[in-house]
Amino acid sequence: MRNEKIDWSEVLGQATEYLCQYLQIDTTNPPGNEIMGARFLKEILEREGIAGTILESEPGRGNLIARLKGKGTKSPLLLLSHIDVVPAEAEQWMYPPFSGKVVGDEIWGRGAIDCKSLGISEVMVLILLKRAGVELSRDVILAATADEEKGGTNGAAWLCKNRPDFEEIQTVINEGGGVGVPGKQKNIYFCQVAEKGICWIRIRLKGSPGHASLPRQDNCLLSLGRCLSRIGEFRARIQVPPVTTRFIEGFSEDEVLAPIFNRIIQNPDGADEVLEEIPDRGLKQLVGTMLRTTYVPTVVKGGEKTNVIPGECLCEVDCRLLPGETPEGVQKEVETILQDIPQCAIEVLDGSTASESSHRHEILQIFEQALQRHDPKAKLIPYISSGATDSRFFRKGKAAAFGFAPVLAEGDLSHYQDLFHGHNERISKQNLLFGIKVLYEVVRQYCR
Ligand SMILES: [Zn+2]
Repeated sequence: MRNEKIDWSEVLGQATEYLCQYLQIDTTNPPGNEIMGARFLKEILEREGIAGTILESEPGRGNLIARLKGKGTKSPLLLLSHIDVVPAEAEQWMYPPFSGKVVGDEIWGRGAIDCKSLGISEVMVLILLKRAGVELSRDVILAATADEEKGGTNGAAWLCKNRPDFEEIQTVINEGGGVGVPGKQKNIYFCQVAEKGICWIRIRLKGSPGHASLPRQDNCLLSLGRCLSRIGEFRARIQVPPVTTRFIEGFSEDEVLAPIFNRIIQNPDGADEVLEEIPDRGLKQLVGTMLRTTYVPTVVKGGEKTNVIPGECLCEVDCRLLPGETPEGVQKEVETILQDIPQCAIEVLDGSTASESSHRHEILQIFEQALQRHDPKAKLIPYISSGATDSRFFRKGKAAAFGFAPVLAEGDLSHYQDLFHGHNERISKQNLLFGIKVLYEVVRQYCR
């Protein structure tokens, strides 16, 4: 691959400027107002001779699509990102979250990591391909969408439903992975190939209401307390799905982690104790979620007045499912855990199974080779994320979707994870350029 004609310092200068301006557009969802971001990206592309189309799912909810034509001998590749961001508590930030301020080597702002830097990187990749006049075997489609942070109804889900041309897409590169964790022998990069499913459960508890001066054992709040502690103490059985196995094997050269992970593989039932030995808090948490379905109480409601025993109360539980599990199965599990708690009714509010693409897909090798050209210590491993991204809408169809926004973390995984939806979100210029270089090579290679 020949990249010597590209002036990368000029590319970085331009990308930095674009990212700063993009971060200054407040696309906090709700309400989103993504149309402003969509127009901004469209103008950048049009200056380079790449036409863009803005589609509004609802007024203000803009989605941008642009396409570089290839020969059409292979199916199109989609470069996906979202325009909206989560709210920022401005008073907690060192610099205003919509300032797009450059401080030293870092670009600050809500969305710097999640996921406006990926949006700009993908725009730059399209521009570089166009400038170089690269011959492509497949079309490269760029989509910057609305509403990812609130479920995607007005963004990716809407596009998948309303754009017949999206049905041809067979490969998607999206957020949700690509981060590298520096290690002694290898820098391990995580590629998201699967997302856990969800099952949101509501538990209603009934008892006899009455005056609080007369204590009673069938007080529904006491049942609620029992219910919460049962769920809090419950640990679903440990499972080691094939992706988790591949993930764990990826650390075979790590002096500290390899022996820990070996013990998990040899005796999965003892995993909880062994996991405690993983020094990186973020990695410990990640591996834990890849080994079992989780059950987390999030909402309680009940009681209005200090002197009244309520007749009813409720709690809600957020369960995240490993591939192969179903919401019905999770509901049964909760029924079993709570079987001896009286007057307890369990309903499923929302549920979906995990979404998954093959961790043997040819593009993973291309990801790894592109990483290695810019980071000789790079090694790529697949992982299952506990949270959801827009990739799930594409996996429902025939597309394979991968979370791959390349950055090398400075420090451990927990440090990087804390930037997502956290205060003081920022990205280094070095990482911005790294992402553009790697993605550019990936697209060139995959679209040869
Ligand atoms: Zn995101």
